[in-house]
Amino acid sequence: KESPAMKFQRQHMDPDGPSNNSNYCNQMMRRRNMTEGWCKPVNTFVHEPLVDVQAICLQGNITCKNGKPNCHKSNSSMNITDCHKTSGSKYPNCDYQTSQKERHVIVACEGNPYVPVHFDASV
Ligand code: C5P
Repeated sequence: KESPAMKFQRQHMDPDGPSNNSNYCNQMMRRRNMTEGWCKPVNTFVHEPLVDVQAICLQGNITCKNGKPNCHKSNSSMNITDCHKTSGSKYPNCDYQTSQKERHVIVACEGNPYVPVHFDASV
């Protein structure tokens, strides 16, 4: 079974990206199984080494959007791609807008080892 840490990697890690490709989100949302049963509306991919994203769990501790205390904001801005479902697209034809950004990343961390399990926001 997929662990929460592995699910985070599937949904949010793409160290070898980004591709300068307006189809990036259409391809990746499908390839990473986020267009099965529904079109996941918003998803962020992080284009940094896994160790650098795992290290966010040791960085600034903040409250998550859901009120839990285990979120952490990256000290540095990171290279990310935001994927947003276009308003007109309807399952099963999931269509996404792809936007490259440099942002601080906020993740929730859990467990031992204490690793990212949820992507909360980019700021
Ligand atoms: O903010 P919200 O609870 O609607 O987010 C739902 C999910 O969308 C998150 O768990 C995360 O997987 C994804 N998300 C994201 N990047 C954002 C906001 C949300 O990947 N900037």
